[in-house]
Amino acid sequence: MGSAALDQLAGRGVRVLGVDRFQPPHDLGSTHGETRMTRQAYFEHPAYVPLLLRAYELWSGLEKDSGEHLLRLTGGLMIGRPEAETVAGSLRSAREHGLAHEVLDAAELRRRFPALRPADGEVALYERMAGVLFPERCVAALLARAQRRGAEVRCGQRAVGWRTVGGGVELETESGRYAAGRLIVAAGPWAPGLVGLHLPLEVERQVMWWFTPAPGAEDLPVFFWEREADRPLCYFPSVGPLGCKVMFHHGGEACAPDSVRRTVGADEEAEIRVALADCVPGLDGPRCDVRTCMYTNTPDRHFVLGLHPEHPEVAIAAGFSGHGFKFAPAIGEVLADLVLAGRTELPIELFDPRRF
Ligand SMILES: Cc1cc2nc3c(=O)[nH]c(=O)nc-3n(C[C@H](O)[C@H](O)[C@H](O)COP(=O)(O)OP(=O)(O)OC[C@H]3O[C@@H](n4cnc5c(N)ncnc54)[C@H](O)[C@@H]3O)c2cc1C
Repeated sequence: MGSAALDQLAGRGVRVLGVDRFQPPHDLGSTHGETRMTRQAYFEHPAYVPLLLRAYELWSGLEKDSGEHLLRLTGGLMIGRPEAETVAGSLRSAREHGLAHEVLDAAELRRRFPALRPADGEVALYERMAGVLFPERCVAALLARAQRRGAEVRCGQRAVGWRTVGGGVELETESGRYAAGRLIVAAGPWAPGLVGLHLPLEVERQVMWWFTPAPGAEDLPVFFWEREADRPLCYFPSVGPLGCKVMFHHGGEACAPDSVRRTVGADEEAEIRVALADCVPGLDGPRCDVRTCMYTNTPDRHFVLGLHPEHPEVAIAAGFSGHGFKFAPAIGEVLADLVLAGRTELPIELFDPRRF
């Protein structure tokens, strides 16, 4: 989110500095692990759809400018019983926004994707426009374009706090102070210590697994499979030597970003294997890799995006609740609008920092 905002501001000719405690792209926050899902029939809420459509345009522009392949359309499936949130919610968004989609019953799903084992009564919403983004490449491309456009980047500098002074802001880092007209705080799981506002954010440890797929399972559409409520199984096709990536969306342990448990227990592997054997047996193959990552959740799982309620010199981008990456360039655009004009044309009412 920070690199996208940096890129947008530099693109508008603004003098801008990006500060990070690590060296992005890195694997210590929330933006690593080879792939991120993108989709348009958004089960989380129809209000996200205009932002998604804008993000698709902006990703495509970044691909052209950088010459990098950043997004691969794979099609996407939201699978579950018709009343499951992933199915009913994505159908609502597709209908409200006139997005192309198909609804498949269990028999049709088995016929089209023989690797999948839906139960009788399960259905799926299929959309062609879903796919995967490559997050490390995306962040690198955003930072490179931002710097080509004149932005400055200082890595290895941990910010410890900020204060407003005379209509501007002073940012304090371990290695010095910066004075600026405006500040954007996009600190991922470290946001609670840096936003200068009480937000009910909870950081959740998530595990990403890579397994060697059997033929037929390596190149399926991305999917959310809500057999267990509140803990859908997510799938990402093979995009490199590691095989297919799978994970549960939510259901992880609470953690703190500087002490998150990076090792993974045999019980956790057993759990995901049970789900795979049940839904996509072709994925229950040898393990290639496993990595942890963090979600920063809000109580309603909608983002926190807006100006600081007491300090309009400061904009906040936080609480992306495990589904923010696909929006990054649109979020960057919103942040640039907010700090430069105090408002944006993109719909962000759902993300008001004052709602808690
Ligand atoms: C396993 C997993 C799977 C996911 N899958 C998807 C998906 O399929 N689709 C999707 O859209 N989203 C997905 N997400 C969510 C998405 O990746 C995140 O919402 C998004 O990447 C968050 O970006 P961020 O910039 O807010 O946080 P981060 O990437 O964590 O960036 C925060 C940055 O702030 C820096 N920072 C923090 N504190 C300080 C400080 N004090 N001083 C200086 N710098 C600081 C950090 O070093 C870091 O670089 C997933 C997340 C995970 C963990």
